[in-house]
Amino acid sequence: MIADNMVKLVAGSSAIRAMFEEGQKMAAKYGAENVYDFSLGNPSVEPPIEIKEAFIKVLNEEKPNLVHGYMNNQGYPDVRKRIADSVNAKFDTKFTENNIVMTVGAAGGLNVILKTLLNPGDEVMTFAPFFGEYRNYVNNFNGVLVEISPNTVDFQPNLAEFEERITDKTKAVIVNTPNNPTGVVYSEETIKKLAAILDAKSKEIGHPIYLISDEPYRELVYDGIEVPYITKYYNNTIVGYSFSKSLSLPGERLGYLVIPNELDYYNDVYQAACVANRILGFVNAPSLVQRAVSLCLDAKVDVEIYNRNRELLYNSLKDMGFECIKPQGAFYLFVKAKGGDDKAFSAQAKTHNLLIVPGSSFGCPGYCRLAYCVDYSTIERSLPAFKKLAEDYK
Ligand code: PLP
Repeated sequence: MIADNMVKLVAGSSAIRAMFEEGQKMAAKYGAENVYDFSLGNPSVEPPIEIKEAFIKVLNEEKPNLVHGYMNNQGYPDVRKRIADSVNAKFDTKFTENNIVMTVGAAGGLNVILKTLLNPGDEVMTFAPFFGEYRNYVNNFNGVLVEISPNTVDFQPNLAEFEERITDKTKAVIVNTPNNPTGVVYSEETIKKLAAILDAKSKEIGHPIYLISDEPYRELVYDGIEVPYITKYYNNTIVGYSFSKSLSLPGERLGYLVIPNELDYYNDVYQAACVANRILGFVNAPSLVQRAVSLCLDAKVDVEIYNRNRELLYNSLKDMGFECIKPQGAFYLFVKAKGGDDKAFSAQAKTHNLLIVPGSSFGCPGYCRLAYCVDYSTIERSLPAFKKLAEDYK
């Protein structure tokens, strides 16, 4: 007999994962080359070679007790220092190791910071479309996720509705740019307006509203587009970073939180985040990967491989008459569901062995997400199936 809360969570369990499993069954039935699985955001590009070399170097050259032992809950001090230095060099910031908490991926980081900040009933706002797991993460701490409706013109956040819906229960806001599922990068203008609203509203309600910037896709951007570093625009920003996508290491589970000195109640928040890391059961982020990644913080996956996929998929779908905006980052394309019903459209796509995720999973019905972190040849082979899908709606 399991907890009542878990019964609901299991029943509503991730549509994306369910689709991924369905894809594996279909591959066994029709042959892997005849199933076009765009369901899961699992990086298809190899980790940079420096990572493998760094793992080997750490194992060969560092003391086993250091590499495999317990450490401070916030991670190794030298690793945190190297990360702070690397962020400072890139973004002209002034962080130290005392601003960094190593986490078990972005997912671990988000759970740590939400545990740190939320009282039961506190509201956390986010902009649709958003990564659906935010619902679960906020629910873990008895918070209430307030979903701001999407702006489907350009998928920048709907700031007018946002401003109206802030209440004295608003504790935090989560933004994710480059965005999963749209691939949109929030512009500097958007960030400035968001910061101005948050400053004014924090004063009005008499407590800080923390801005949590969930940034696993920061490094995956195209056409030289800049992703603003949000701590520079709003003092009460906490950054959640991850190496899952930037170095193609999602199974290794490594990320970090940046908790700046300028944050209101910085000391309390930093200390509480360290304790949260421990008592959520993570204890600390995995040790070997911390040491290895810290040796190659400038390494990068080959983003051009995703860019080629993006160009082929976007241009082909547009030619076939699908409506979508060109992603600026991440590896997702958000396509308008023909016929208007995203679940029906996804089901129709499945009849052509195309696996795409309904936008309802991201708080944005009427669209579907395609994860193009697949082989280029998969996209090429999938195009006749997309063509048939378009014809179904003529
Ligand atoms: N946030 C967003 C927007 C994501 O898309 C993901 C994973 O897909 C995560 C967080 C979790 O990433 P991690 O593997 O770093 O926990």
